[in-house]
Amino acid sequence: MFDTETTGLDPYQGDRLVEIGCVELVNGFPTGNSFHHYLNPEREMPDGAFQVHGLSTEFLKDKPLFADVCEEFLAFVGDAPLVAHNAMFDLGFINTELERCKRALLQRDRLVDTLMLARRRYPAGPNRLDDLCARFSIDTSRRTKHGALLDAELLAEVYVELTGKRQARLSLVDEPAGITQQGIIAVVRLRPEPLLPRISAAEREAHRAFVVEKGTPGFRAPEVKHKLSLRASVTSELVFEDCLIPETNILPESKGLKSPLMCLTQARYGIAWGAVGAAISCYKSALDYAKQRVQFTRPIAGYQLTQKKLVEMLTEIAKAQLLCWRLGRMKDSGVMEPVHVSMAKMNNVAMALECARTARGILGANGITADYPIMRHMCNLESVYTYEGTHEVHTLAIGKHITGLDAFDV
Ligand SMILES: Cc1cc2nc3c(=O)[nH]c(=O)nc-3n(C[C@H](O)[C@H](O)[C@H](O)COP(=O)(O)OP(=O)(O)OC[C@H]3O[C@@H](n4cnc5c(N)ncnc54)[C@H](O)[C@@H]3O)c2cc1C
Repeated sequence: MFDTETTGLDPYQGDRLVEIGCVELVNGFPTGNSFHHYLNPEREMPDGAFQVHGLSTEFLKDKPLFADVCEEFLAFVGDAPLVAHNAMFDLGFINTELERCKRALLQRDRLVDTLMLARRRYPAGPNRLDDLCARFSIDTSRRTKHGALLDAELLAEVYVELTGKRQARLSLVDEPAGITQQGIIAVVRLRPEPLLPRISAAEREAHRAFVVEKGTPGFRAPEVKHKLSLRASVTSELVFEDCLIPETNILPESKGLKSPLMCLTQARYGIAWGAVGAAISCYKSALDYAKQRVQFTRPIAGYQLTQKKLVEMLTEIAKAQLLCWRLGRMKDSGVMEPVHVSMAKMNNVAMALECARTARGILGANGITADYPIMRHMCNLESVYTYEGTHEVHTLAIGKHITGLDAFDV
């Protein structure tokens, strides 16, 4: 979490940073680590800005320059996501200072903007920091003027509220806790050592995204015939044989394999939700049918075995919905990682297939007909089980994440 105070609104018109405050959060908990400096802006303080933060030219004149604290700042933020309120404003100032120090700029895709999060959640506003503190009953009595460190601390509390309290993972267990000097509980992520990459930087760079026009010599897309799943859509094999692509067809922003894999993360996120929809459709069909189909003395819904099936289906659906809901909140707050999506895709598709099979059974012989949606869902889910990362490979990805051991090649 970070905040800045400045001499004005526009770093490109000579306005400068006068204060930076950052606090570290891990899994939504303040660790007690912070970074805070007042800075000499090497210029007079305009009256308007002085009214906002109370930092005078006199007070700042013996403070360090940004260049003096630049390394310390970069070491503090590392490669963590950067959370701020109206984050582009602060980033503009920090990047202007970094440019002066001839250091690499901080990238926009590292930013999480709490103003955007708040606007999405409370479209009617108001969503200034003060308003959000009031909304969440956060004590602002210390805030007589703007101050970067205090505002970053307040924003940390707002952020935790906006992103669904203090759990940033899917699991509810195994969070080791300790007490920091300030008496705040710090939660440390159990993150295994990153594994050494198996491909070199040059090889990674050699993977680029291209637009291949239909009709390019050497490119064919023969249709896969005789499908019993996803029959409404055409599935084709993509064949590239001596297929030369001009350099102008490179997608300029694509970097290595990261670009296609990022798209897949978004698609799999959607699949995790879509699988729940298929499961609900199967469940509803089975419930309706079971209440109408009379065998022996009563509708089959009145028999304990059928009720057990329906209850278990609904329970699994509710669990999958919660997984998706939590994932969505993590996505909103910028902490969702591919491995989280793997867990949701893997679980929810398998759950939906299980529901489809159970529901098909409840419908007896009618279950195999196209008069009901179940068999269609079941067949389609067989594709979903395989595409966008197979069930098995997602299992291996999660296994690697939690053990630190790569089972792919073993
Ligand atoms: C209808 C449909 C549409 C598709 N659309 C697209 C698309 O638009 N774009 C696209 O790129 N792809 C698409 N695919 C392809 C899909 O992503 C692949 O089929 C899938 O990744 C599996 O690859 P494969 O078929 O080569 O199976 P294989 O990789 O040969 O795997 C076969 C089996 O072995 C398992 N397996 C593989 N490696 C391991 C291991 N190390 N340990 C244990 N088990 C392992 C797999 O999980 C699977 O069960 C589509 C597939 C279907 C069915």
